[in-house]
Amino acid sequence: MSLSAFEPLSPKAAGHQVRKRFGQNFLHDQQIIERIVNAVAPQTGEHIVEIGPGLGALTVPLLRRTEHLTVLELDRDLADRLPARTGFTGHLTIVQGDALRFDFKTLQQQSTPLRVVGNLPYNISTPLLFHLLQFGDLIEDMHFMLQKEVVDRITAAPNTPDYGRLSVMLQYHCVPTFLFAVPPGAFNPPPKVTSAVFRLVPHRQKPVQAKDQARFARIVSHVFTQRRKTLRNSLKNQVDMEKITALGIDPMARPENLTIEQFVMLSDCLI
Ligand code: SAM
Repeated sequence: MSLSAFEPLSPKAAGHQVRKRFGQNFLHDQQIIERIVNAVAPQTGEHIVEIGPGLGALTVPLLRRTEHLTVLELDRDLADRLPARTGFTGHLTIVQGDALRFDFKTLQQQSTPLRVVGNLPYNISTPLLFHLLQFGDLIEDMHFMLQKEVVDRITAAPNTPDYGRLSVMLQYHCVPTFLFAVPPGAFNPPPKVTSAVFRLVPHRQKPVQAKDQARFARIVSHVFTQRRKTLRNSLKNQVDMEKITALGIDPMARPENLTIEQFVMLSDCLI
């Protein structure tokens, strides 16, 4: 069966009661589904992991192009009906559970890196991305759909209003690429906001590496909780301003003006 012959089911037609608390907005636009699967471009020998397969809108087309798919679904009803929905072919592994607590190391077989895909539950997007960053060494790339507003923040450059903690932390670990926007009408039920598909590729070798990653994460979080304050004000009890100046960083700068490299220098000089 060709990809275009696949008709995603509406929750009503599938007899599924939508659970808002699980962020359930099911994709039904075939062109969007095809664009996502084409962006992933699964190849022979890869191990694809889908987070939140739902009613299988992405799962079925992915299964047609890959030999090895693992899905993680929190909703027991959806996980139970997936084999029948996908016409189970033997290479689909269904894990019923919470992706936020899932140890992705358990999926690593030999040295095959994981390719992670998902139209993610928007209500847990940030904690889920931070959870996945811990497994960056095992992951080749990730293709996700989230609220466009969040994707804009992830991909933002310094000196722009969207640049913040999410941009710095994600770009420290990965290269993010905005792929395309998706209107609410592509989903059933439609979300209130526009969505976007993006790619994250974990750095094999980080361009800049903090001496203490936990401290780096803390400092980034601290300065962005007071994003209108200058560094001189938000860090006055933590670091000597002369030290900051000696690094070539203006103490009158605001966090949105700093590059990732400068955040790393700042964090290293606090040690
Ligand atoms: N992939 C389907 C699609 O595109 O139509 C469903 C996407 S829907 C936005 C999000 C899916 O993630 C739902 O199936 C939901 O039950 C599941 N989900 C929600 N929270 C989850 C979690 N913590 N771990 C795994 N799956 C979760």
